[in-house]
Order: sequence, then structure tokens, then C-alpha cells
Amino acid sequence: MTTERRTAIVTGAGQGIGRGIAMRLARDGLAVTLNDLPGGLGALEATAGEIEAAGGTCRVATGDVSRPEDVEALDSDHAAAFGGLDVMVANAGIAVTARFEDTTAEILDRTLAINVRGVFNCYKAASARMIEQGRGGRLIAAGSVSAHKGGEWQSAYVASKFAVRGLNQTVALELGKHGITANLYSPGVVKTPMWDAIDEVVTTTENTPRGSQFAKMLPNIALGRNAEPEDVARVVSFLASEDSAYVTGQSIVVDGGIYFV
Ligand code: NAD
Repeated sequence: MTTERRTAIVTGAGQGIGRGIAMRLARDGLAVTLNDLPGGLGALEATAGEIEAAGGTCRVATGDVSRPEDVEALDSDHAAAFGGLDVMVANAGIAVTARFEDTTAEILDRTLAINVRGVFNCYKAASARMIEQGRGGRLIAAGSVSAHKGGEWQSAYVASKFAVRGLNQTVALELGKHGITANLYSPGVVKTPMWDAIDEVVTTTENTPRGSQFAKMLPNIALGRNAEPEDVARVVSFLASEDSAYVTGQSIVVDGGIYFV
């Protein structure tokens, strides 16, 4: 890696964990492209404004990670603007909350298209550029505790996250010779709009008070609290840094002590 300013792309940076990661990497001194779907443009611009006000360097780019052409444009526009790519954070993902009997093949396909093909597209575009640059790089993606263990209401999501863990391990094996590492951050319960939506579906279906599904998780967390996006962003900061140079193929569980690998 170089001593010039390092750069990163963060997908799904309009809200939640991706927003926290983008803000943290910018604070670490990286020049960051914040990506989300076109509907998230306003949120991206608001976050970019905060980063710039704090002295950081960033730009925004909309695009759908499930579409290879969008991700190729995301990568090439980023490199044109910032002179290269050192860190890809494939964070964008969806969680469709449904009992297995209500999970359709369409739900499964949509989940795999974003959560697995999205990471695949990001790893493909970024690794091709990193190999060409010849200075290594960091591939990082959102895993989950659901990449290690089944979970009720989440059959499609769990299938997608197990797939991401397998993909990440294989990419790590194949690209190590280029100095490229591939790692997942695997959160447990993070207070984001994704979890608000999970809670809403479960509590509506079971006719229980709003917020009770989220609250039900807390006794299972050793540290006794849910995560904030910043808790996850700290670990991504490490994975993006020189300090993680000898870590690859891993899923780093960041869950306050729910699941022990
Ligand atoms: P979120 O739903 O709050 O935010 C996800 C962002 O990704 C949204 O802004 C959304 O617009 C964007 N996005 C969705 N599809 C996209 C696409 N096709 N292209 C580009 N952007 C897209 O979710 P979050 O809680 O911040 O989760 C972020 C990642 O962390 C996800 O991969 C998720 O599976 C994972 N994760 C979250 C938790 C949690 O507790 N919240 C736990 C484990 C893993």
C-alpha cells in the first residue's frame, strides 16, 4: 500500500451501519465514495456534508449493487476521482423478515441478488482494480451472526449470509498472492432502520408491542446492550487499516457476546 491518501468505497452508506462506516473511514483520513440506491441520494448528500464539515474528503454515487454495470461504474468513477481504490466495503444488504412458510422463491432470489451478488460484484470490480494497481487492498463485506447460525424469521437472509462467508473465504484464498485480504464484519443486533423493520414485522404478526422483538434480544447479549453503528465501524476501521495486514478469510463477529465463534 502507498503512503498517499488511501481511498474507500462504502455501499449502502445512506443510513445505518454503512453511514457509520463511511463517517469513520473519512475520519481515519481515507477519501470515501458513499454509495446507495438512487432513492437514498438525499441521505448520502447529508452525510457527505457532515464529513466535509469535519474536514474529510468524500463524494456520493448512486447505483444498485446487484447490477454489475452499476458496480463497475461505481469503481471506475471512484478511481477517476480519487486516483485508485484501496478498500471496498460491500455493506449494502436487505433482510426480508418472514416465517419459512411465507418465504417465497421470489424473496429468496431478491435477497440473494442484493446480499450475495452485490458482494460478488463489489469484490470482482475492486479486486480487478487492486490487482492492476499492484499494491494489494482490502475487500470487506457485511456478514452477520446469521452467517454462522440459523435464525427464526430469516431463512432467506441466513442463506445469503452463509453464502457470503463462503465466497469471502474463497476469495481470500485466491487473492492472497496479490496482497489482497478479504474479511467480513459480522454484527449481531445493531439499532438501524433494518432492525426497526424486523421488529415491525414480527410485532405486527404476533400482535405484540412495537419494540418488544428488539428488546427480546438484549438478555442474550453478554455486554447487555445492542450495538450502535459506531461499534461496528470501529472494527471496519481496523479491517481497512495496515494493522489488519495478516488477517484474511475471517468473519469477525461484532455482537457484544451473543455467538462465540
Ligand atoms: P439498513 O437497511 O439500515 O441500511 C442498508 C442500506 O443499504 C440502505 O440505505 C439501503 O438503501 C441500501 N441498499 C439496499 N439495497 C441496495 C442495493 N441494491 N444497492 C445499493 N444500496 C442498497 O441496514 P443496516 O442495518 O445498516 O445493515 C447494513 C449491513 O449490515 C447489511 O448487509 C446487513 O445485512 C448487515 N447486518 C446488519 C445487522 C443489524 O443488526 N442491523 C446485523 C448483522 C448484519
